Amino acid sequence: MRTGSMRVAEISLPAIRHNVTRVRELTGGAVIVVVKADGYGHGARIAAEAALAGGAAMVATADLEEALALRDAGIEAPVLCWLHGVHADFEQAVAADIEIGVSHLQQLEALAAAADRAGRPASMQFKLDTGLSRNGAAPEEWAPLFARAAELERAGLVRVRGVFSHLANAGEENDRAQAARFDEAVELLRSTGIEPEMIHLAASAATFSSPHLHYNTVRVGVVAYGLSPFADKTSAQLGLIPAMTLRSEIVALRGVPAGAGVSYGFNHVCETATTLALVPMGYADGMPRALNGAGAWVTVAGEHRPIVGRIGMDQFIVDVGPLAGRLGLGDPVVLFGDPECGHPPVEIWAGLMRTINYEIVVGVGPRVLRVPS
Ligand code: PLP
Repeated sequence: MRTGSMRVAEISLPAIRHNVTRVRELTGGAVIVVVKADGYGHGARIAAEAALAGGAAMVATADLEEALALRDAGIEAPVLCWLHGVHADFEQAVAADIEIGVSHLQQLEALAAAADRAGRPASMQFKLDTGLSRNGAAPEEWAPLFARAAELERAGLVRVRGVFSHLANAGEENDRAQAARFDEAVELLRSTGIEPEMIHLAASAATFSSPHLHYNTVRVGVVAYGLSPFADKTSAQLGLIPAMTLRSEIVALRGVPAGAGVSYGFNHVCETATTLALVPMGYADGMPRALNGAGAWVTVAGEHRPIVGRIGMDQFIVDVGPLAGRLGLGDPVVLFGDPECGHPPVEIWAGLMRTINYEIVVGVGPRVLRVPS
């Protein structure tokens, strides 16, 4: 039993279910929900269970290790993973019935050899690079890769379940070039006699911006967690509900005089006498230290209050002056959550840090207890 719960990421299962249902209704096809990096920081098992309850056909991770951890956590649904180390243990993948995204011939041969040793076919999908210049088979590799997979399928060593690629942009001109290359690849694959069940190109952004890129499946991460992939559109505008509420509590309240310095370096000095609340979360928990002085705020007793002074590894300080008489130890402090509930949206931190909401939620640290709600 864990003691205390002073650092909590409350994860709304209904929100994830709602978001996945929203994507299903939008596309009308199958939905793969990406739960890599511990479910974008939400907890991989929690995220996978909620996504599947929302009608996801499959969940996906980057690494095989993450995929195997889902099996260990009792997830029995189809799981795909696509980024493999040179020595990835595909025998474990075959034994656990994990679907492998195959990017090149050497991987395909290693997978077939593992299937041979295991005495059962390996499930796989082709991971293609259509222009992102990252992981995936390059166009010149497609013909030999597909031909060899067709042979191995006939030999009963692999089962090709799908083909996919990842876009550099969403709804922009160069996506068209990627989509055209993807179409060529699917046609080439079909010419070998392989008919992939799942054909997917769109991640979150293209799912919402480009209906012509839906094919029969989409593969979404951030929108499943209720976050917008667009800088100019909010979650609510997309019909999504943010699933994570990052909360802590007041563990000390202190009245200070005008002129009091706050935290390391005294780079905040109180202009007037006020009350400071100590909150036990810090940069070890995913709060960017550089938020200091940037204008970030939290909600305390339903009010927006500023973070003041440097953020420490384990704690930060909020000026709660106007609320002082109404507050007590243990009162909740919300760092970010659903703005529809009055909480700061995670995008405030992302904007102040010149990054994206993805990086903030995925950075929520391991000391923070993920609590499904
Ligand atoms: N597909 C691949 C290959 C990815 O790497 C990712 C995430 O980075 C996704 C899908 C999900 O992207 P998003 O969270 O933008 O939907």
